[in-house]
Amino acid sequence: MRKIVVIGAGQAGASLAVRLRSLGHDGSITLIGEEPVAPYQRPPLSKKYLLGEMTLERLYLRPESYYRESDIELRTSSAVVSIDRAGKRISVGSREVSYDCLALCTGAVPRGLPRSIGGALPGVHTVRSLADVDAMAPAFVEGARALIVGGGYIGLEAAAVAATSGMRVTLIEAAERILQRVAAQETSSYFRALHETHGVDIRERVSLERLTGEGRVTGAVLSDGAELKVDVVIVGIGVTPSTELAESAGLEIENGVWTDIQGRTSDPSIWAAGDCASFPYKGTRIRLESVQNAIDQAECVAANMLGSEEDYVPQPWFWSDQYDCKLQIAGLCTGYRRIVTRGAGHSVSFWYYADETLLAVDSMNDARAYMIGKRLLEMGKSPDRAVIANANVDLKPLLRG
Ligand code: FAD
Repeated sequence: MRKIVVIGAGQAGASLAVRLRSLGHDGSITLIGEEPVAPYQRPPLSKKYLLGEMTLERLYLRPESYYRESDIELRTSSAVVSIDRAGKRISVGSREVSYDCLALCTGAVPRGLPRSIGGALPGVHTVRSLADVDAMAPAFVEGARALIVGGGYIGLEAAAVAATSGMRVTLIEAAERILQRVAAQETSSYFRALHETHGVDIRERVSLERLTGEGRVTGAVLSDGAELKVDVVIVGIGVTPSTELAESAGLEIENGVWTDIQGRTSDPSIWAAGDCASFPYKGTRIRLESVQNAIDQAECVAANMLGSEEDYVPQPWFWSDQYDCKLQIAGLCTGYRRIVTRGAGHSVSFWYYADETLLAVDSMNDARAYMIGKRLLEMGKSPDRAVIANANVDLKPLLRG
């Protein structure tokens, strides 16, 4: 266990390396990333950073000096191209690095639009990396026309930044409603109304036929026959877990790199964490795309690499910032059958129940509802729905006992 190599210098990779040191691992740690910069936070990329309200310095998870001082060898601009499991070596370009124990923290890649419909035209952007956002930022100017493809959180956040920047924004969503995959009708309606108040033209059940333009994108043809003039297109249609390395090394893949409940892949010397990893959860397998999961899973894997035998049990939470609205989500809403509304208007929360069991809470501008909901979920408590629905009842006493 002397030499630990971590592939992917993002949120999970950095958390894993830092945790190994803080747990007392005194062998070598090499953190290898293909991006040219030290590990940074992605959430602000589609929020304050794109809006120009956050500097690059504040994006970094740690100053570069931290890695030096902690004796973590950080190699940037270094793509790992293969893993030789038998020889316990990886190839980084033409160089080889040996390991005793390896972690895959390769994240996910955004889905793009096919070339055949204009997906490769200049002016068409996906939102994953600092380089992506630096490339699109100059197009965010007052009066410019933005087309956002996809009404998930990334698309909605980009739409909010574009509208706040004074752009004319159209957002198309192929499904029946925005946020359909991740939230209830109530949350979708809240955000649709919020965006419409800010002038965003949201078109649901409409997909993209093709993009047009000579040399760069200038237009879009939609599935309902509408034609739009556009200056910039932002594509937020989901991500695919980065599994190619694992796949070509013969590791088991199942909606991401397969891991057991402790984070071990099908090779006991190789572990995985973050957006790229799928793991057992309540009788099924899931993969989570969130900062909380990347950190907690990576820290659990770090401990297990050093011989601990901890099971990873996620306590899911997520957030999104759009205009002056702060959305905080606790839990996973999969399998919900009922929604209980608490509050109204600007400050409201939607509580997801599977019959009597509380599953998740979406809270808009109500940090208290979020915090209490999160604690209740952690405690495995499911309050009576009528109590939740009554905004005059203080929920804090529910946490006692
Ligand atoms: P990443 O952070 O993507 O890191 C993976 C790294 O591995 C990348 O740097 C990649 O280049 C590198 N890599 C891949 N393959 C190789 C290779 N072969 N060799 C070397 N390096 C490699 N989550 C929230 O909880 N709240 C939010 O509000 C939120 N907002 C977001 C906004 C945006 C714009 C984006 C893109 C994501 C957001 N997320 C948010 C999701 C969150 O950022 C991710 O879940 C988190 O970054 C996952 O961490 P990770 O380490 O698994 O992957």
